[in-house]
Amino acid sequence: MLHNRQAMPTPTPERKPLSLPQKALRKMGLLRPVDLALHLPLRYEDETQLVKLADSRDGEVVQIEAVVKSCQVVFKPRRQLQAVVDDGSDTCTLRFFNFYPNMQKALEVGRQVRLRGEVRGGFMGRTMMHPSVQAAGGNLATALTPVYPSTAELPQAYLRKAVLGGLALALRGQAFAETIPANHLPPHSWGLAQALQFLHHPAPDVSLAQLEDHTHPAWQRLKAEELLAQQLSQLQAKRERQLLNAPVLAHSHSPQGVLAQLHAALPFTLTQAQQRVVTEIANDVARAVPMHRLLQGDVGSGKTVVAALAAAQCIDAGWQCALMAPTEILAEQHFAKLVGWLAPVLAPLGLQVAWLTGSQKKKERDTMLALVASGQAALVVGTHAVIQDKVQFKHLGLAIIDEQHRFGVAQRLALRQKLSDEQTNSTEAEGAFSAGDHTNSNPREPHLLMMSATPIPRTLAMSYYADLDVSTIDELPPGRTPIVTKLVADSRRDEIVERIRVQLTEGRQIYWVCPLIEESEALDLRNATDTHQALCEALPSVMIGLLHSRMPQAEKKAVMSLFVQGQMGVLVSTTVIEVGVDVPNASLMVIEHAERFGLSQLHQLRGRVGRGAAASACVLLYSLGEHGRLSDTARARLRAMAETNDGFEIARRDLDIRGPGEFLGARQSGAAMLRFADLTVDHELLDWARQLAPTMLDQHPALAARHVERWLGGKSDYLKA
Ligand code: ADP
Ligand code: MG
Repeated sequence: MLHNRQAMPTPTPERKPLSLPQKALRKMGLLRPVDLALHLPLRYEDETQLVKLADSRDGEVVQIEAVVKSCQVVFKPRRQLQAVVDDGSDTCTLRFFNFYPNMQKALEVGRQVRLRGEVRGGFMGRTMMHPSVQAAGGNLATALTPVYPSTAELPQAYLRKAVLGGLALALRGQAFAETIPANHLPPHSWGLAQALQFLHHPAPDVSLAQLEDHTHPAWQRLKAEELLAQQLSQLQAKRERQLLNAPVLAHSHSPQGVLAQLHAALPFTLTQAQQRVVTEIANDVARAVPMHRLLQGDVGSGKTVVAALAAAQCIDAGWQCALMAPTEILAEQHFAKLVGWLAPVLAPLGLQVAWLTGSQKKKERDTMLALVASGQAALVVGTHAVIQDKVQFKHLGLAIIDEQHRFGVAQRLALRQKLSDEQTNSTEAEGAFSAGDHTNSNPREPHLLMMSATPIPRTLAMSYYADLDVSTIDELPPGRTPIVTKLVADSRRDEIVERIRVQLTEGRQIYWVCPLIEESEALDLRNATDTHQALCEALPSVMIGLLHSRMPQAEKKAVMSLFVQGQMGVLVSTTVIEVGVDVPNASLMVIEHAERFGLSQLHQLRGRVGRGAAASACVLLYSLGEHGRLSDTARARLRAMAETNDGFEIARRDLDIRGPGEFLGARQSGAAMLRFADLTVDHELLDWARQLAPTMLDQHPALAARHVERWLGGKSDYLKA
């Protein structure tokens, strides 16, 4: 092989296989000079001096010059390059798990090298892992050296060279020419080129404090740029969508209509908040423009009925509606509820509800697919199986995604893709569509309603979700008694068992949630199986079920239905019940190892109780772990849970504790995450960007396009998901 390649050199440079660092650059999305130039230092290092090994402290990052004493590839414990160097004061072992042939050369025995890295003073003598290596004797740096975010395959020296090369290229071209009209720049703003020069090439006299202070004008400029790019691309996505066609799902006032009959069949009256969002959605879907609306409401606020009403309006207009949930159990619950409400109304019209999941038998699935394709299934409920290739809708008018943050961005893109293909492929407009009043031939898309029980703090909604319309249910149905939350040390679990006994004699049901089962051994967690067994022994006359994600689907369903019907007193489960399960008779939620759960997850779990009229409680069992204390974040989370039941307040605190990542499940792509701006401090810049975006698109479209291209390149698609 090797021989061949040497005999016949590859004709074009593109054919040359990429080196490891080249691949790593690619993987990090650092392709264009602009991307490299916008890859900013994480911190800076002082390479202006040399030290002696004997003077270095354990854990210190140092720069030394030494002579190589030995160098070899060893295979224990795994393949690595190992060298020993001596700087006259002491020796040090170097280890490299990723290395290239030229590195072996640089570390040939007898060579004088300059090394830079963290010294560890282990039992076996001093070591350095992956130090940077260069020939000794070069000039010392005169200014601080930037350190870039990197990966193991990508050495700093290589990355630094690539970044500085990219910066030079980008500066020479017009890549960083001003895109923001002068009269719209924030006051005292630096130019972008100036800011990048400053951060990548610190002048000799610039101090570390200055460089690392994110209120510095150089950082401010980058944050402003980034926020503007985000706002522009989202506004752009929204405007593009507004050019698309969607079926007009007019509100039917007929008393025979599905909508009217559903209203009549509901066992409760809607809260004011529910009425308000129902109207917002009803108005949206009656327009010939695709709706993209996020319906947020705390757990238990009653989103399902809102979805059902939207579905009814859609069906009345002669279109199909799809409802998707992230798990089968949740999908099943919707199915049961919606069938209960809608099936009796649909049947006289010759319409049905179809059910699609991954675990379905082929025969059943084929029957369902036929119902969907023929249009006989007015409502299709299921998991992401609903968006698989084989599923062909006759005329999909509305897609509803429950717990949307649980769906990945790729799934959501697939959904939109599928839905628009579907519509573009069908040759003739159907039913109400042809009666619609659009005259353009732009592609069609169904309306999209996303539901989430994780309220999004205002700043996040304004930044990451700027392209969506948001409806909020900010009121719980009446008659709910607030849930009392108690923090209890794990050592007192016997008291909890007593409490369960009392609840059971009052005819109540109990959830007991454990952390993931597979981690039980490694993390010394008491797993669901153990807990189940212990409870069975303590409460021998009670039916106690066990539910975890590794069980076969049929078994899960059987357990769930025993609990839903009330025969089962206690349900021990892993977090499979996290979202959406609705059993009003359950009044006690015990969460084991609560310190290991995220805040929004805890809040979601707690929301499983307090759905009926009985006073409900949530017990957060925590254990202190090997250090005998809770981590600061765990403590902050548990305190938040004990102090408030308000989903918005919980969300706000979670943002403080964890940063935005937690909320952006659905938008967790590198492209969509803000790299520089910090929404907890940069409100003013966010407001500035929000105000400027429409003006830019209207009055300076070319500049706006250049700006988005600079920051997002080909990645802006992800923002549309
Ligand atoms: P979530 O918003 O968490 O999805 P659900 O839709 O599951 O909440 O509703 C929670 C419970 O409240 C369900 O049992 C539902 O039937 C009931 N519910 C919904 N709206 C009302 C209302 N307006 N009045 C009384 N109960 C309601
Ligand atoms: Mg729900």
